[in-house]
Amino acid sequence: MLNLTEKELESLLRFGLGTKRTGSLLSVKGAQLLHAGFLKRYLGEIKGGLNAPNEKVAASLMMRRCGMMTALHFYLFTACGKRLPADPSLMSWEIDDGGQGWAPSFYFEQEAEVVQENRRQEFEKLTEDVFKHHVDKLITACFQACSISKKILWENIAVYLFWMYETLQTEITDPALKKQAEQDFCYILYEAEPDLFGADVCENPLAKFYQGQDAEQTRSTCCLYYVTDKSGVTCSTCPRKKQKERVS
Ligand code: SF4
Repeated sequence: MLNLTEKELESLLRFGLGTKRTGSLLSVKGAQLLHAGFLKRYLGEIKGGLNAPNEKVAASLMMRRCGMMTALHFYLFTACGKRLPADPSLMSWEIDDGGQGWAPSFYFEQEAEVVQENRRQEFEKLTEDVFKHHVDKLITACFQACSISKKILWENIAVYLFWMYETLQTEITDPALKKQAEQDFCYILYEAEPDLFGADVCENPLAKFYQGQDAEQTRSTCCLYYVTDKSGVTCSTCPRKKQKERVS
């Protein structure tokens, strides 16, 4: 139904692809979340399921999940030559009420299209559709809803995208595809015009977080996940290991 092979489907499940609507009251259209007022109420409703003490922490965790969705779009394009609709009105965040906490999957209302020609132009369009028309708007809504730093949220996106392209390099065996994946990643980091990332974006919001292929990755912001964990254990890339941050 999504015009994906079994192998593609399986690969995309790790990025949270959903294959059905769940019917949960917490399932929500991507476009609804772009309205700050709605988003604030929604964050208030899901924070309990996330074990988050406030909307700010819930927003950061939501954008970590959005990072997976971003990785899903670019994985499908780079590794499979297909694209799913990036328009937030054509997808929904589906919640499984029987699952653990708030862990959405992404349901798309239209099937994947095969990219046939003008690959470069299509990749540029994907970059604009995913970032400018969806991710940036959601980040702005989060900022308006609970004053969370946009830098934290962009880094939440960057982490998953970088991980996906680095993992691809270890998974792909075909040299031509390997090269293509490298070029796609370079395009996002160094070649894409800043205005593809958002209406008021003056510089690439992801590139500043990339520390190089073999570098030990350390986040420059803390995503606040640790406050949802009773033991408060920090991840290995957390900047809090170097500098304590206050969570409000
Ligand atoms: S420790 Fe790492 S995972 Fe935990 S909140 Fe900080 S950055 Fe996020």
